[in-house]
Amino acid sequence: MQKVYILLTESLKNREKQGLLRKLYPIKERRGCKIIVNNKEYIDFSSNDYLGLSNHPQIINAAKEAVNRYGTGACASRLLSGSFEIHHKLEEEVARFKQKEKALIFNSGYQANLGILSALLSRDDCVFSDRLNHASIIDGIILSQAKIIRFKHNDTDNLKSLLEKQRKKYKKALIITETIFSMDGDRAPLKELIELKKRYDCIIMVDEAHATGIFGENGSGIVEQEGISDEIDIIMGTFSKALGCFGAYCTSDKKMIEYLINTARSFIYSTSLPPAVIASNLKAIEIIRNEKFRRETLLKNSEFFKDNLKDLGLKVRGSSQIIPLIIGDNNKTIKIAARLQRQGYFVLPIRYPTVPKNESRLRFSMTFNHSKEVIINLLDSLRKFV
Ligand code: PMP
Repeated sequence: MQKVYILLTESLKNREKQGLLRKLYPIKERRGCKIIVNNKEYIDFSSNDYLGLSNHPQIINAAKEAVNRYGTGACASRLLSGSFEIHHKLEEEVARFKQKEKALIFNSGYQANLGILSALLSRDDCVFSDRLNHASIIDGIILSQAKIIRFKHNDTDNLKSLLEKQRKKYKKALIITETIFSMDGDRAPLKELIELKKRYDCIIMVDEAHATGIFGENGSGIVEQEGISDEIDIIMGTFSKALGCFGAYCTSDKKMIEYLINTARSFIYSTSLPPAVIASNLKAIEIIRNEKFRRETLLKNSEFFKDNLKDLGLKVRGSSQIIPLIIGDNNKTIKIAARLQRQGYFVLPIRYPTVPKNESRLRFSMTFNHSKEVIINLLDSLRKFV
């Protein structure tokens, strides 16, 4: 065997020994909150289809109409002939939705964070990044070569002391946080972060991947709910979670968006999203504005689930539709997840290094399609297993 393959095999064996070997589960079918895997039906608690929009008939129709009109692919990058009018229409709609001057579409949230951060920063700059920020944020910072300074999760005192010590050593400085954290389901102290960004001459960027569609009067996110869109320099988010579609956006002022069009390499050097995906995203925003009952029901049911878990004496976190049940030990978490799977619940154990050591958890991703009855049955199972 070639040396490289010997090393790969060793690495995979080590992962397996530590219970860290990742696997793919081929899903045969998805209906509402149910999925079929290996011919067994599960209730899915691991998808980000928070509002159940991935199967919304109006969105499906919008996609079909766009396929009929434009074909399947965009067939070029945005700066060549892949910039259809519908891409521009979505950008105008997203800018309105997020109450910012301009928007730019990226092909995924991962590519958005990579592109924005690497375009904006260089080795003379630094980024103050919440310790629990998503891997795409970390990878974007690494690519930019800026100094990464991680502050304790949601700890503005810790951030302040780091700013005090470090800010003046660098040219530009960015503070970056998720608004709703993907693994903990809690929210960032945005108003305090804005105070600090002003005081220490930084810019601030937020990732609304898990907040878009769920919070705020129009469902645009936490920034809308807190009425601070003017104070956040860059807001990114995805169409791939509550909107049930695909892709991502960045909103900011006109100058910043023009700069990104010219410099963000993940935007420039990739074929643009197919028009049918863009049409779905547009329709999803319209539905989020019009079908407020989806987010209201989701948040009410999430609260119900969390309160009941607490009543069972369990350790839960979060203030959103993402509910982590902290188990702690890796093996115990794997065992409970396996027992739940045998009962027909698709819940996956989240372990180190995705979350800190000794904080292994079951992450319940609640969706509009989980009825009260489903939640009550799940609570019954958890009562026996945990
Ligand atoms: N940011 C956050 C906070 C995320 O949770 C994710 C996806 N899990 C992304 C960005 C990446 O988005 P996408 O899946 O569209 O690449």
